[in-house]
This record gives sequence, C-alpha cells and structure tokens, in this order.
Amino acid sequence: MIVRNLDKGFVEASKKFPYKTRAGGATVTVFVPYDCKNNCPFCVNKEEYADCSGFSLEAICRSIDRMNALTPYCDFVFTGGEPLANLKSLQQMLDHVPETHKVYINTTLPVSKDQSEEEILDFMNRNAHKITCVNISRHMQHFVQESNDSLLAKLPVKFRINCVLYKNYPEDQLIPFMERFRKVHAPSIQFRFDYTETTPDNLYDQEGDKILHSLKKVAEYTGLDGCRMRCGFHFRYKDLELVYHKTLPYSTIFEKADDGVTYAILYDILIKQTGRIDSDWDGTVMDVAKYAHVVFEPYDLKWIEKVPQKEAEAEEDAVLFEGAACSAS
Ligand code: SF4
Repeated sequence: MIVRNLDKGFVEASKKFPYKTRAGGATVTVFVPYDCKNNCPFCVNKEEYADCSGFSLEAICRSIDRMNALTPYCDFVFTGGEPLANLKSLQQMLDHVPETHKVYINTTLPVSKDQSEEEILDFMNRNAHKITCVNISRHMQHFVQESNDSLLAKLPVKFRINCVLYKNYPEDQLIPFMERFRKVHAPSIQFRFDYTETTPDNLYDQEGDKILHSLKKVAEYTGLDGCRMRCGFHFRYKDLELVYHKTLPYSTIFEKADDGVTYAILYDILIKQTGRIDSDWDGTVMDVAKYAHVVFEPYDLKWIEKVPQKEAEAEEDAVLFEGAACSAS
C-alpha cells in the first residue's frame, strides 16, 4: 500500500489514477461561505476565510446538486467557518440535499444579540427530518464562544459533543467535563487528537498515546474500530458513550489493488467556499468527470477489537442512565 508520497513525479502520476471510494460514495464536506468568531489554535480552516473574494452560495449549491447526482446516498457534512452563523444561507444549502443523504453539521451553536436561542431551535425543528447529527464543539480549554448548556437539552435533533484534546489539556478536568454534558443528556462525546499531528505511524499507536492513557484512567474501554484513514477507541463513562477519534490529515490514499491498478481512494470530497470541488484538504481539485466512473469498494471501517461487556455492569449502566434522565428533568 502507498499511503502518501508527495514527490513531484508521484503527484503528477497520481492525477491519472482512477478513483475508488466506499459503497455509497465518499463523504461530501461543504465549507459554508461565512466564518466563525473563534480562533482555535488547531484550526486549519481559518486562513481560508481571511479573503472571501470568490465565495459563492449559488456555486456551492450547484456543486451540492452535482455531487447528489453522482452519489445520491453519500453523507454530507456542513462545516466552516460556522454553518449556524447564517441560518438563511444554511437553509438554502440544506434545501439542495435530498433526504436520501445523512447530514451532519459541525457547529459551536452560536447565540448572540443577532441570533437568539429560539431562532436556532426553530431552524433545528424545521430541519429535524433531515439532520442526522449536530456535532457541537466544546473543548476543555476555552477556545470557542459557548452558548448556554441548557440549549443543548432543548435540541430536537441528535447531537454529539466534539472535544479536541489539544497539547497540554487539563487531564484532571476530564471527569468534570463529562459530568457537565451528562447533565444535558448528551448521548456521546467524541474526543479528538489534533489531526495535524496524526501520521500513519501514530494512527493506531497505543503505547505512546497520552490521550488514550488519560481516558483509560477515567472510563471503561470497550473496543476499537478503524480503517485505513481513521480509527476510534471506544469507552463508556456511566451512561455516556465516548470515542477517542484519530484521523490522518489528508483524504486520499493511494493503493495498488490485486488487479495491478493503483487507485486514488477517496474518503472525503470537499465543496469549498467558492463551490470548487476538491478531492483532498491540500487544494487538490477533483476531476468530477473521472469521479462519475468511480469504482466502489465495501467501506473498510470495521471493529478491530471488542471488549465483551459484563451483563451485570450493563444492567447497572442502564439503571444509572434512567436515574440520570429523571433527576435532571
Ligand atoms: S470554531 Fe471551528 S472553524 Fe472556528 S476557529 Fe475553531 S476550529 Fe476553526
């Protein structure tokens, strides 16, 4: 397998490689054409919003239509910037995504004097039938402006907390952080490794992984899933599902198949703020005509390890969950 080879000759040759992706199509990540108000130190998108010339909502919508026509069952992710900073524009983009797709929204859930909680809840209610999950950024270090936690409990859609454990994160705050979100019935938290630091060598490394050791101290490890591109270490803390997620900082893997052909295997396709369709995070423009002939393979994400749950503990957890739900209502 060739995971990555960025020498000039290889990059040129790779343009001719046929595309392969998972059944249903690669995930389409849409960058909304408006920014957030934060400056997270691990953010790789921020600089793209410094100059908004060429940003076009109409062009993005046309690209959504194109991708829907090619892969009518792929997943869509709206990210930014801040998708919920302009509800009218987000609505227009969502209106171009038919209900055959799963839709995820990455957001900080921004509330301000220009946008009330009620407006966000109205939007969520209107689109509840379309939204698969809202991924809400909340970090243990205060990188993002946060809305009131009580808003989370009112959301009419499934949501998950996304938390980047960045550099010297305060390990002793893990339990208070998890307890904070148990109070608003968050079903799950995804802890994330700073993906700019992920390499093929440390993706599955367990011994030298500080975050993994931190989580093992406070939660019960339940298993590991993964694929060529990313992996997730699963844990349980009381009624909370936890995943520690690691992913490589690119979205194409080159691999020679048994038929002797080298394929460019796409995991994520990006619709940029200008409507341009890219096949990787590094500015590689996708050959959309070539993608129309993409070869599909079964999704390679699978369980690598599953720790059997003891029946008594599972029952105890179920009781704990009911208790927590009642006491907070
Ligand atoms: S909230 Fe998201 S887009 Fe905004 S700075 Fe942080 S990581 Fe970047």
